[in-house]
Amino acid sequence: MTHFNDKQPVTVYIGLGSNLEHPARQILLARSAIAALVGVDELAFSSLYSSPPMGPQDQPDYVNAVMAVTTRLEPAELLRCLQRIEREQGRVRKEQRWGARTLDLDLLLYADRQLEEPDLIVPHPGLVERAFVLYPLSEIAPDLQVPGRGALADWLARCPADGLRRLA
Ligand code: AMP
Repeated sequence: MTHFNDKQPVTVYIGLGSNLEHPARQILLARSAIAALVGVDELAFSSLYSSPPMGPQDQPDYVNAVMAVTTRLEPAELLRCLQRIEREQGRVRKEQRWGARTLDLDLLLYADRQLEEPDLIVPHPGLVERAFVLYPLSEIAPDLQVPGRGALADWLARCPADGLRRLA
C-alpha cells in the first residue's frame, strides 16, 4: 500500500547499472519504470556510460547512468519499488559479489538524509569512490553536497575515470 508523507516532495538520486541482456535497453526500460511509479517524477537523466566490471573480470562491461527524481515516497518504500523493478527486469541473482546482473538500482541520495539501517544505507556507501556513479551524477548535479561527505566536485576531482566512457 503506497502512502505519502505530508511533506513537500524531495529530490532523490538513483544509480542504474546493467551488464546483461542488452544493458542500454535495460537501463532505459528501468528509467521508464521508475518515472511511472506513483509518487515519483523524473527531474533529470544522465548520459549512459560504459565501465569495466568491478570485481570478477570474466563478465561484460556495464552500462551505467544516474537519474534524479522528486518523490513523496519514504526511503524504504522507494527502495522496495526499486527492488521490484529489478525483479521484474529479471535480475540474475548474484552467486558472487559484484557478479553480472540484468539490472542493479541503488538509492544514492535521499534529500539531505543520512540513514544507517540494516537494509538501507544513504548516502550509498559506494557513491563517493565509484567513477561510474560520480561522473554521471556530476553531469546532472555538479554542485551537489553529499550529506556527511562534502562537495561532490571534490570527490570527482580525486577519482580517476578508470576506463569509464560516455556513450554517444
Ligand atoms: P546490491 O545488489 O549489491 O546493490 O545490494 C543490494 C542490497 O543492498 C539490498 O539488500 C539492499 O537492502 C541493500 N542496500 C543498502 N543500502 C542500499 C542503497 N542505498 N540502495 C540500494 N540497496 C541498498
